Amino acid sequence: MVDDLRRELCALHAELPRNGLVAWTSGNVSARVPGSDELLVIKPSGIAYDDLRPERMVLCDFDGVPVEDALAPSSDAATHGHIYRELPDVGGIAHTHSPYATAWAIHGEPIPCVMTAMADEFGGEIPVGPFALIGDDAIGRGVVETLAHHRSCAVLMRAHGVFTVGRGPRDAVKAAVMCEDAARVVHAARSLGPLVPLDAESVDALYHRYQNVYGQH
Ligand SMILES: [Zn+2]
Repeated sequence: MVDDLRRELCALHAELPRNGLVAWTSGNVSARVPGSDELLVIKPSGIAYDDLRPERMVLCDFDGVPVEDALAPSSDAATHGHIYRELPDVGGIAHTHSPYATAWAIHGEPIPCVMTAMADEFGGEIPVGPFALIGDDAIGRGVVETLAHHRSCAVLMRAHGVFTVGRGPRDAVKAAVMCEDAARVVHAARSLGPLVPLDAESVDALYHRYQNVYGQH
């Protein structure tokens, strides 16, 4: 089971540079070991995207400590672990410094819900979480506290970047791609003139349809 997760995670990491979400070795994706309340698999620290291999993905506990002989995990591993510990429904997490979304995070402004694709994916605005230093569980606490007050599966962590959550790692990576797309399009729209947020009723209808009806079932 863990070997399947390593393969899935390795393939998903390739989506980050492919979609222009990361520079150099920044960014990471993790998956909760299904059903586990203590183990996750995450990208190793400081390894080039081209050099990632399934066997190099790191199995570690929610404190970010590897449970077997392995490469050092991403420095964000404990942040991911904190989120898994606090949010039992989350099975995958992605983190990037994708440029447009991070520009909104630096500005400290939520991305307003002004287009249908945002209502579909995020169910409203994409919120801003607090500034937090890397190294303890402050980032994880900031992500969890911000998600508690929003339907969004993405958070813009102030002056840092994007954290997204999903039922699995693929959902989280998709949300990271859609977050950057929204950040870029809404930025372009605002350069043309004032923005008009969608009304709450339309946002609810779009979100419900997309989350429950859209796609292949
Ligand atoms: Zn980061």
